[in-house]
Amino acid sequence: MAQEFDHLPPLRDIIAEHGLAAQKQLGQNFLLDLNLTGRIARTAGDLSNTTVIEVGPGPGGLTRAILAQGAKRVVAVERDKRCSDALNAYLCPAYKDRLDIIDGDALKQDFEALAPAPRRIMSNLPYNIATPLLIGWLKNIKAFEGFTLMFQKEVADRIAAKPRTKAYGRLSIMCQWLCEVRIEFNIDKRAFTPPPKVQSTVISLTTRPKPLAPATWDSMEKVVAAAFGQRRKMLRQSLKSLGISALDVGLKETARAEELSVEDFAKLARLFAQSTDKVI
Ligand code: SAM
Repeated sequence: MAQEFDHLPPLRDIIAEHGLAAQKQLGQNFLLDLNLTGRIARTAGDLSNTTVIEVGPGPGGLTRAILAQGAKRVVAVERDKRCSDALNAYLCPAYKDRLDIIDGDALKQDFEALAPAPRRIMSNLPYNIATPLLIGWLKNIKAFEGFTLMFQKEVADRIAAKPRTKAYGRLSIMCQWLCEVRIEFNIDKRAFTPPPKVQSTVISLTTRPKPLAPATWDSMEKVVAAAFGQRRKMLRQSLKSLGISALDVGLKETARAEELSVEDFAKLARLFAQSTDKVI
């Protein structure tokens, strides 16, 4: 049983002892079932050579599972001082050289400076900041070997969405351009304490050795934003503000953003980059 793997007290006892009543504004929906946290950790495979950076360890359910999975080291960033104090008191002594707790806001961290490579981010994310965190990591993708993340299901569906679906958009393209994306499994909201309003999904993103097609982050972002800013419009209209034509890279001007592949967007991004070079 996962509960016994680390010989530590059950999470409910930790929560009671350290007064860790969940705070909504911090997105605190704790996963107390160590079988489930173990299942999440196992999706990451062999971690013996990897430093895992965990965002929001809370009372430590996923942290314990990642350590039990054999991670070389875990650096956990937690904004709630009650939780970091609890972890320092009960978990750090059990994993002396393998666990560091950082008191702080994940949105303000330099993740590359937190731990040596190879690094993997693993987190049951606070949903209110999940997307900005992911975008920040993608922008610096070379720093990470991959990610094991829990999102609200709707966001996970957008990350993994294919062209010609309603969920396909900016997140799908930027993630799939840089990473191989795999939906692992869903977790029912009743598994959390307290239960959130939405269902959750665990997703793996593995950094590609190189992006699916060459382009710079900025040009890719601009082209994708322009195309999906007017989602229902044809490219002829939606790319006007960028001063480029889809025809120049062999795409139809009558096509709509959701019909384009990641590679198509990269073609447009390269065209846009060339056109701005000329202007400068
Ligand atoms: N990992 C725990 C689990 O699975 O039960 C807790 C997950 S809970 C969904 C999100 C955690 O992120 C909470 O512990 C919360 O305090 C923390 N958190 C919220 N905002 C944060 C931020 N800006 N930086 C770091 N941690 C944050």
